[in-house]
Amino acid sequence: MYDHPECSQADGCPSMPAGIPCTLPSRDWGDACGVFGIFAPRQDVARITYFGLYALQHRGQESAGIAVWHPREEMQHHKGMGLCFQVFTEEILRNLQGDCAIGHVRYSTMGASHIYNAQPMLGQGRFGQFAIAHNGNIVNAHQLHEQLQAQGAEMAGTSDTAVMVELLSRSSADTLEEAIAEMMGIIKGAYSLVFLAANKIIAVRDAHGVRPLCIGRLNGDHWVIASETCALHTIGADFVREVEPGEMIVIDKDGLSATEVLKPTRKACCIFEFIYFARPDSHIYGRSVYMTRQRMGNLLAQQAPVEADLVIPVPESGIPHAMGYAQVAKIPYGEGFIKNRYIHRTFIAPDQRMRELGVKMKLAPLKEAVRGKRIVVVDDSIVRGTTTGPEISLLRDAGAREIHLRINCPPIKWGCFYGVDTSAGRDELIAARMSVEEIRQQLGADTLEYLDMKNLIAAVGLPKNNFCTACFDNQYPIPVPKELKEAKVSITPPKSPKEQKQPTPS
Ligand code: SF4
Repeated sequence: MYDHPECSQADGCPSMPAGIPCTLPSRDWGDACGVFGIFAPRQDVARITYFGLYALQHRGQESAGIAVWHPREEMQHHKGMGLCFQVFTEEILRNLQGDCAIGHVRYSTMGASHIYNAQPMLGQGRFGQFAIAHNGNIVNAHQLHEQLQAQGAEMAGTSDTAVMVELLSRSSADTLEEAIAEMMGIIKGAYSLVFLAANKIIAVRDAHGVRPLCIGRLNGDHWVIASETCALHTIGADFVREVEPGEMIVIDKDGLSATEVLKPTRKACCIFEFIYFARPDSHIYGRSVYMTRQRMGNLLAQQAPVEADLVIPVPESGIPHAMGYAQVAKIPYGEGFIKNRYIHRTFIAPDQRMRELGVKMKLAPLKEAVRGKRIVVVDDSIVRGTTTGPEISLLRDAGAREIHLRINCPPIKWGCFYGVDTSAGRDELIAARMSVEEIRQQLGADTLEYLDMKNLIAAVGLPKNNFCTACFDNQYPIPVPKELKEAKVSITPPKSPKEQKQPTPS
């Protein structure tokens, strides 16, 4: 479990008023954002975007926002801290009228979790006003930020997205498309981006396609862009295809056009999307995330069998993995924990005792199900290991006789610099500091086995060179600057970040 990093700042959490404890959820590994875009004249695009963001809420819970291009050629937007339902009201959605819109849910990996980093962010270039929403991480953002500051730039926030806004705003290109193409030649890293401008939306993906991005069609003549296919299904759109690595998609009144901006190099989709991040009902590379997770469980049961009475998941992300394990192991599958579904924000202080209380608030053991039994506990991954130990203690206290921990990916030994929150430092990753046997002892399990890389790749069913697997094997497909790897850089928060105007209720 990993508490909101800004809480340790001397002046408190910047997301909360002075003197109020942090209410951001304690977290383990979070993904960095979900993006959504729609071009649908005369439709309620803000409300459809809201539904799309709701489907992508698992990708970010810190802030949410929607920008709409109004028929009177004005950009309107609203964003705020919290979950979609906390940020938007019926009145706000009613006032966001237009023909096209983009939306964003955020989980911070670069830049504080603060309203000034909430997205979509707005910018103004030679070509007019635009809004941007980003999923990923720009690894040379700090260098670009320094260069822009030296030119006197006043940034709209402290994230890599603010750097992109500044680059586009300063571009001498005549069109937003040209400015974006120019920027794609400068920025390095992982990015799936959607843009809103005068009567059009634009989507681009980095040359490796690290973060997912797909295209859908709604009611025949309307177009949708989303981080995951689950958002298309939620709004009734049909999946058309994924945005290709290095590609730019422009959608306007003339329909959809596609351009190859960057030559795709080797594909490097984040394999963790299959293990944990993506919603199980999504498809990536044409593969069902849910069925892939079941296959991981199948192969882990072959690789690391054990005699036991019951297979249980750590809910909810461990469910398909555990079902897959139980199928092949021929051990009954059941629930061993009940998850409190209403934990979104908890008043948890960053010390170990409170973290343990936090686990108890989230999970309760089913004593009658586990008492006296040999239990296989299946989870998708172990990152810091700070939640797994208390989970095992809960089962022991509930009377489990043996606890065999099975993890559906290899040990995570390296940080992610492509849009997943491990930036606080490699030493926080338990497998970077300890052997598997030491981890087993630390967590208090009777046995511990991880799915090996060969079986992970077999489960996803494509050659390894289609994926980024850097957090397991240190093979980073996009070079990471040394200073970023050593976590020595950050973008300094602006003293008075530029205000992003809220829509005026009519
Ligand atoms: Fe995904 Fe790990 Fe690569 Fe990050 S380092 S993109 S989490 S596979």
